[in-house]
Amino acid sequence: MALRLTPRGRRVVGLAATMLVTGLIATVVIAAGATPRQKPVPSPPPAAAQVAAPTKYVVLTFDDGPDPTYTPRILDILQKYDAKATFFEVGKNVQRHPELTRRIHELGNSVQNHTWTHADLRKLSAASFVDQIQSTDQVIREQTGETPGCLRPPYGGVNALVTQRARGLDKDLVLWDVDSRDWSKPGTAAIVKRVLAGAKNGAVILMHDGGGNRSETVAALPTILKTLKAKGYGFETLSC
Ligand SMILES: [Zn+2]
Repeated sequence: MALRLTPRGRRVVGLAATMLVTGLIATVVIAAGATPRQKPVPSPPPAAAQVAAPTKYVVLTFDDGPDPTYTPRILDILQKYDAKATFFEVGKNVQRHPELTRRIHELGNSVQNHTWTHADLRKLSAASFVDQIQSTDQVIREQTGETPGCLRPPYGGVNALVTQRARGLDKDLVLWDVDSRDWSKPGTAAIVKRVLAGAKNGAVILMHDGGGNRSETVAALPTILKTLKAKGYGFETLSC
């Protein structure tokens, strides 16, 4: 199984299993039997397009939702800028707000697995690991009709056992290249700056739509989208 970009089903991935580097960002994906990362093929512009289609892209990801306050605001902003994102959702939040998960999916975004309780996968028994992943798969599938193939381990918590267990459940572990550190509430300007500084073709960018007050993330998003679009970036989503 390899990580793919959803819109046109292109294979992206690959990935060298980079382990999380302390303090900084690190990685991306740890995929079983991964193939080398490939550049996406530019999509043809719509007939009436005045502007050239993006030839490079970033992958925006939002973790820890869905959240009734922040997720709808983020969806509205994404829609306004014609951007799509990947949402790594916590199963118990999906159970509370299933309509949000459905809406995320219906708007063309990707919904993926971030465990049932935001558990540190390194600390679970084999049975708990399976339960955390499969119960989340189920509530997401009920709303989207699709089973997540991507698993983002909370806290970026990966080790050999987690990798092996994820593979056993047919999941690809997906980390990130750019950490906005929005969860630390550094201020809107700092979030914008970190994302824009780290953005490069193919980069997976980590932000949050749940798990706390995400006002700064919401406030940062229009500038991030506007600026990246002006630099020629498109926005792709992940599936695995
Ligand atoms: Zn998380």
